[in-house]
Amino acid sequence: MAGRFEVRDGVGIVWVDNPPVNAISHAVRLALLDGLRQAAADDSVKAVVIACSGRTFMAGADITEFASGPKAPNLPEVIAEFDRFGKPLVAAIHGTAFGGGFEVALGCHYRVADARAQVGLPEVKLGILPGAGGTQRLPRVAGVEAALNAMVSGDPVPAKVAARMGAIDRIVEGDVTEGAVAFAREVVADGAKLRRVRDLPVPPVPEGFFAEARKRVAKERRNLFSPQRIVDAVEAAATLDFDAGIAREGALFMECMKNSQAKALQHVFFAERQVSKIPGLPDGVKPRAINKVAVIGAGTMGGGIAMNFANAGIPVTILEMSQEAADRGLGIIKKNYDATAAKGRLTQEQVDTRMGLLRPTLSYDDLSDADLVIEAVFETLEVKKKVFEQLDRVAKPGAILASNTSYLSIDTIAGYTKRPGDVLGMHFFSPANVMKLLEIVRGAQTAPDVLATALDVAKRIKKVGVVAGNAHGFIGNRMLEGYGREANILVLEGATPQQVDKALVDFGMPMGLFQMMDLAGLDIGYKSRKDREPGSFDPRSGRVADLLVEAGRLGQKTQAGIYDYAPGDRTPRPSEVTAGFIKQAAQEFGLPQRTFTDQEIVERCFLALFNIGCEVLREGMAYRASDIDITYLYGYGFPAYRGGPMFWAENEVGLANALEKIRGYAETYGARWWTPSPLLERLVAEGKRLKDL
Ligand code: NAD
Repeated sequence: MAGRFEVRDGVGIVWVDNPPVNAISHAVRLALLDGLRQAAADDSVKAVVIACSGRTFMAGADITEFASGPKAPNLPEVIAEFDRFGKPLVAAIHGTAFGGGFEVALGCHYRVADARAQVGLPEVKLGILPGAGGTQRLPRVAGVEAALNAMVSGDPVPAKVAARMGAIDRIVEGDVTEGAVAFAREVVADGAKLRRVRDLPVPPVPEGFFAEARKRVAKERRNLFSPQRIVDAVEAAATLDFDAGIAREGALFMECMKNSQAKALQHVFFAERQVSKIPGLPDGVKPRAINKVAVIGAGTMGGGIAMNFANAGIPVTILEMSQEAADRGLGIIKKNYDATAAKGRLTQEQVDTRMGLLRPTLSYDDLSDADLVIEAVFETLEVKKKVFEQLDRVAKPGAILASNTSYLSIDTIAGYTKRPGDVLGMHFFSPANVMKLLEIVRGAQTAPDVLATALDVAKRIKKVGVVAGNAHGFIGNRMLEGYGREANILVLEGATPQQVDKALVDFGMPMGLFQMMDLAGLDIGYKSRKDREPGSFDPRSGRVADLLVEAGRLGQKTQAGIYDYAPGDRTPRPSEVTAGFIKQAAQEFGLPQRTFTDQEIVERCFLALFNIGCEVLREGMAYRASDIDITYLYGYGFPAYRGGPMFWAENEVGLANALEKIRGYAETYGARWWTPSPLLERLVAEGKRLKDL
């Protein structure tokens, strides 16, 4: 039994007890109904409190029921029983009451919450909507606009804010169950009024409110299916009677469930929970203690990396080559913090505390007390070699030595030290203080506890750590190469940069590839192409960018790159100069011209990326396809509602179809860049799925 019933001085307490988070399992639903039956049958019980044992109220649905669907009674049926119940019902909320948990509370007549509790309806994050009356009840207690915003964002609402909205009747300090029992006695003393939420009126909204809301939501939650259905459901609450509104909510819930976005977002939900599980990590491996960090290089990446640690309250020593470079780096960090403070998201005191945790230095000797050193200097082996040799000399025994390299071999870098077991890659994404991805690169000799520490550090600095193998470009940048190559060649074949970018943005990417190149600076790719073996990349893919760089067009920083820019304006405008270079390059390579549909553009770019993803998996450079999906969601802004590039290829394109298309590209464009991954061929031949690997 996942609960019990108790009577305290005329108040029945229906206890839910399903550790660790009181997820609303079948057993919990039965316990709720059983508790109500006992409370109804006992004449000494004048009011009832719904309370939870352990650290939280019902934190949400039982995710193990996602795949199979709930066994009767489902939650809407249980809450309908609350509505038929004849004695006052009070929810006692502590911890987090999310999703179904909050819907249970909204099914009660009154809600009492611990001051630190949080409530919320986060279903939108799984591509669905609150389906146990939440869309109909929340507007009745919190008003239409507040309810809509809470459900469209899905964000947690602190109890005190919820109380101001009207969704919580009393905030208590101390034991919440005691507080709820006291509240229940007051209700009884006051005539034991039943304040069923279903009977409350929905406060009126101004004319045109819902049309406006649809427009706003379309902009804020671009391309997403369920937020629009949430608007529909709230409109139903405002315009229909309660039972008709509930029926409408049910129908809209089913529409969401059937939509591909729900499947994709649920995949992401599980992928996030998998990503930190490292197969083969011996049991009982303990992370090393990280209390002091050092960062080498205070450039674009080093500065952002240092901020992550300062934000987490961890002191950081920053080593630079010259006082001037150190001052510049610290100055940029300060500017970043000041900008955040100006937006009201940090207090001046917080800025000062964080800046106070950063200690610039020019001497390696100051790194001797660091538990973790992250190197973010120029991307050449020569420089990295010098740095790691010095680190080996000064770092204390057991210190972890990490490189932020984008492409270089972690094993080569580890070989510059006499402690390769302590070396690994910690590859941040730009801007490093913002992007949530941290690729953790496991070298051949990286010790298990070093890997475990990096994963732990990722969590402490609020990043999502994905473990990658040591291959050129690791997971993300290696796959990006295929994407960039095809986008560039498409342009040589007759698509324009603006058409390619628009197709990618319409697909859901936050920015088109060419816009991204202009933002990062075309000189970065230019330099790396100069350093690479000529046969190791398709010469057609970088030709236009090379011509642009040689003409002094480096991107946004020179107000001209692939696009033209007006002074002080980042809006990309089509460029005649670029069009001329594209024509020139197309002629050089003798590429025939044609038109492309947006779908062709998207498929070619992302199937190139996916095919390399299959190779990453085949080589064991990622542990699972879903880790690759997470890499693209958090490192590159791939739309979560498509689940990530691997999920997209499998579910929207289909593995067999993807293979056929890749074979077709190989025929047209040659097998050098388009050989289908043997792993993909095997999956299709055996009728298997990516998750079967
Ligand atoms: P950057 O040029 O902005 O910064 C490098 C900094 O390192 C400079 O401030 C320089 O003065 C300092 N430096 C160079 N040699 C040094 C030495 N021997 N000792 C101390 N300081 C030294 O470069 P960045 O973009 O921050 O890149 C740094 C590293 O991060 C590279 O390995 C790069 O591949 C990688 N990376 C970059 C990005 C990106 O988007 N820029 C993303 C991920 C990883």
